[in-house]
Amino acid sequence: MSTYVFGHTSPDSDSIVGAISLSYLKNQLGEDCIPTRQGEISAETEFILNKFGGATPELKTSVAGENVYLIDFSDKAQAPSDIMEATILGIVDHHKLGDLTTDTPLECWIRPIGCSNTIVYEMFKANDVEIPKDLAGMMMCAILSDTVIFKSPTCTKVDTKAVKELAAIAGIQDYKALAMEMFIVKSAVDGASARNLNTRDYKAFEMNGSKVGVNQLEMVDISALDDRKEEILEDMRAMKEEEGLHTMLVLLTDIMKEGSQLLCVSDDASKIEAAFNTKLENNQVWLDGVLSRKKQVIPFVQPQFK
Ligand code: MG
Ligand code: MG
Ligand code: MG
Repeated sequence: MSTYVFGHTSPDSDSIVGAISLSYLKNQLGEDCIPTRQGEISAETEFILNKFGGATPELKTSVAGENVYLIDFSDKAQAPSDIMEATILGIVDHHKLGDLTTDTPLECWIRPIGCSNTIVYEMFKANDVEIPKDLAGMMMCAILSDTVIFKSPTCTKVDTKAVKELAAIAGIQDYKALAMEMFIVKSAVDGASARNLNTRDYKAFEMNGSKVGVNQLEMVDISALDDRKEEILEDMRAMKEEEGLHTMLVLLTDIMKEGSQLLCVSDDASKIEAAFNTKLENNQVWLDGVLSRKKQVIPFVQPQFK
């Protein structure tokens, strides 16, 4: 029986590459693992897979009766809806511990560092397994993406060291230039619908009985969306209805200005104002220095729902 390895819904590069890298490691260790995904891959991930000849994992959204490894999440709201009918053999993650629980003992690698692929890198080392050149390139890109080229406050020395070592294996000299190329691909918004933008990096969180949705767009210049804020807000209102959310947030993260324009539609926006000790104007506010959803947004929003 094969084991399926996958990351969160609206998969980012860490979730897709993590499914590939963790499956590869497990296969080398004699477990039969298949990388899968819960949704469409992003333009950034496509760029990475094309660059290093990686295959797109197969789509799998139902896992009842299966053995699974989870990577890059541990929240039920980011899992397939029948996850409780699967056997979770392990979790590799770098987020807050979510609300998934298991009936059986599991392997758990959860660390407060910049990227799940950094943890997988450490797992390769711990198991003395060699990383193929192309896989090293993909893992390096996933870490550069998640850490916003080392600018994110989630980034640690473990991540920067992993990138340097993976770049050497992959034979990449100027990894920062490659990362910029990747972020330019990620920043493309021309012709994208508001719904496409609002679901590119969307995550839902259960906060004491209230559902909160948070999308993030990481761009080299968010002014490309200046004319589209009303349209984005209008679609956020629609998504809030459709998903039964208490609050929907969108972070337009400018990786050069190093901060995020926060867009908010909520049943009680005062919770969000309190979370960031600020006032919203036209449903928006600039949050200087805020780059990380997991470290600078969720930990401040969640206590408002206690
Ligand atoms: Mg992720
Ligand atoms: Mg990640
Ligand atoms: Mg991210």
